[in-house]
Amino acid sequence: MAERRLREKYLRCRPVSATINRKGGAPKKDLLRYLALAKELGVNDAAIVKRGAWYLDPRVTLKCAVPRCRNYNACANCPPRSPRASETAEIIKEYKTGILLRWKYPRSEALSLTVKQRLSIYSTLASIEAAAFYDGYYFACGFATGSCRSLCNNEGCRELVESGKGCRYPLLARPSMEAVGFDVYRTAAAAGWILHPAGGHCPDVIETLSRIAIVLVA
Ligand code: SF4
Repeated sequence: MAERRLREKYLRCRPVSATINRKGGAPKKDLLRYLALAKELGVNDAAIVKRGAWYLDPRVTLKCAVPRCRNYNACANCPPRSPRASETAEIIKEYKTGILLRWKYPRSEALSLTVKQRLSIYSTLASIEAAAFYDGYYFACGFATGSCRSLCNNEGCRELVESGKGCRYPLLARPSMEAVGFDVYRTAAAAGWILHPAGGHCPDVIETLSRIAIVLVA
């Protein structure tokens, strides 16, 4: 309910004529509203990013295949079913502005988020995407973190999609940044955020790890 109230607080419905052909992407005042929404929804850090401040690299999805992730070819939003980095680069080159989001978790939680924590990430993305969409930025598009397969208890995605039944959470599930080839570490570093490589062998001195997502606005 709180999320719905927040969404209503930030949702407008402007004519798209106000946004079409804007040369510089979305104006700062709109981007600041999305930052405020992100903060109210519990995101730890949020930053306005402009074209040139997000990076793609085909080696990112190589890391999904080598060593092979259990989600590889098992999820509609993961490689090799998600767009390749070269396809993503071609598609997103029209975007000029976006919002980069970071959630911080204790090291012990970050690598295996609960379904509730994942739902919070996906619904935050959906809320920001919706706020931008109804502002007239009808190409607003969010990319999440990790595989949405964890929403489905790691079961049945391939069967659902191949049988034509489709995704269980079509309005929430999004491919992760890494699944479509974003170099998340480089993109976060360009925003001035310090990230450590996240893995089971992180030393104890690293107390928090981050999850990163992005909403490309216009
Ligand atoms: S949310 Fe579930 S059904 Fe939808 S794409 Fe992800 S794993 Fe598949």
